[in-house]
Amino acid sequence: MKAIRVGQHGGPEVMRIEELPDPRPGAGQVVVRVKAAGVNRADTYIRAGAYPRLPELPYTPGMDAAGVVEAAGAGVTRVRAGERVYMGGSLFCGTYAELALCAEAQVHPLPERLSFSQGAAVAVPYATAYRALFQRAGARAGETVLVHGASGGVGTAALQIARAAGLSVIGTAGSDKGRELARREGAHQVLDHCAPGYLDQVVALTGGRGADVILEMLANVNLGRDLKVLAPGGRVVVIGSRGTVEIDPRDTMGRDASILGMILPNATPAEAASIHAALGAGLQNGTLRPVVGRELPLAEAARAHALILEPGAYGKIVLIP
Ligand code: NAP
Repeated sequence: MKAIRVGQHGGPEVMRIEELPDPRPGAGQVVVRVKAAGVNRADTYIRAGAYPRLPELPYTPGMDAAGVVEAAGAGVTRVRAGERVYMGGSLFCGTYAELALCAEAQVHPLPERLSFSQGAAVAVPYATAYRALFQRAGARAGETVLVHGASGGVGTAALQIARAAGLSVIGTAGSDKGRELARREGAHQVLDHCAPGYLDQVVALTGGRGADVILEMLANVNLGRDLKVLAPGGRVVVIGSRGTVEIDPRDTMGRDASILGMILPNATPAEAASIHAALGAGLQNGTLRPVVGRELPLAEAARAHALILEPGAYGKIVLIP
């Protein structure tokens, strides 16, 4: 099979396409023929060597993908050869490849209504958004959520999930195109996170109360100001951050507010199973519709890694083997 390999950490150019032996499934494992692989920002941090958990070199990047089950090992009961699936993670090798070897628990049915590219946009973005909203913030129907960075993969997922769950949704984006996307994908109100003083509008839009939940994609820029627009009992979930930030802890005291960190790999097997059960229902009934912004050939993985770090996010970037 062809796969992208990283032999040393560095810029996007360290990713090369190579021939590797086809993986074979052991007991409890599944080999999937990858039809589309999702690109996440974390893939770029891992490639650059700037991530808390790094794979052994050389490795194949990629956590998300969708495809067709090629072979299932002994004892696998949840999927069969020929079934359409989306994957969240793989074993030993990554998903930027023609074939991926997965544990049974890493593959989930992909409903016919979704394309493979949409399937490649599910696992990390939707599971992150779901875990942030419900397993960390404990969001409830009727509350207001500010999705701070609503135009990207996690943001659009959060808009759809929150809207379907009966929350009042405010989304931010930095471009006209991104704000249009946020409105289309579920935001009741849309703000420009590049406009001066835009967070004041969160207070106005909520009748002076503030947001009950804030999903934060860039905490090093926003956390200090987020705390000033939280409702009493409000919760900020730090999903993304690229540095340090100054906050006034008093802003949390008067509100009984909470700052909650999260990374998806901390989800326990039981939490992960619950997340994917919920996502499966939403994918099946059409409330969850992953947005694919761009499809590139697998050989252009380096270009995808450069593009995902540019401003003006618009859904997911996926690679097609
Ligand atoms: P993405 O598709 O590249 O989107 C990035 C988002 O950040 C866009 O909506 C972008 O908006 C927005 N942004 C840019 N400047 C901002 C600002 N000043 N304030 C608020 N938002 C701003 O990335 P993604 O896949 O959605 O991931 C979002 C973040 O979550 C990344 O930092 C990623 O590493 C992190 N993440 C964390 C986990 C976890 O387990 N904790 C899992 C997945 C992702 P514009 O481009 O419209 O300006």
